Amino acid sequence: MDISKRDLAEKMRSCGLKPTAQRIAILQNLAARKDHPSADAVYRSLRDEHPSLSLNTIHMNLESFAAKGIILKVNVLHESARFDGDNGPHHHFVCVRCKKIIDLHNVKVPAIKIPRHLGAAKIFYQHLRINGICETCQG
Ligand SMILES: [Zn+2]
Ligand SMILES: [Zn+2]
Repeated sequence: MDISKRDLAEKMRSCGLKPTAQRIAILQNLAARKDHPSADAVYRSLRDEHPSLSLNTIHMNLESFAAKGIILKVNVLHESARFDGDNGPHHHFVCVRCKKIIDLHNVKVPAIKIPRHLGAAKIFYQHLRINGICETCQG
């Protein structure tokens, strides 16, 4: 996914975040990858080019992007949060051994019956997570 810096800056402005150079570098890194990285993995891939970016800054920014809905936060098997640059509707397969997260697009999930005790709660989207063991880990 190749998203220009201008588009990323626009995305941030539209939800009230100031598009700083650091924030753009973080969001651009996430948008370019499909592995649903942890904050630590984003830090490791940015630290050579952006030595002034700390792990804490990356973590805080990813959390605020997720809070604004620009990215998704995916919690995997009770470990540290993983982040997804694709905030469109899709589902996930999670390997319980290597913790790999694979996107599942075009998987149709039947509409569930909303449980009564949710009352008038509004449902934004349904997310299906399939836990299993990936092909590589079975080898
Ligand atoms: Zn695996
Ligand atoms: Zn995903």
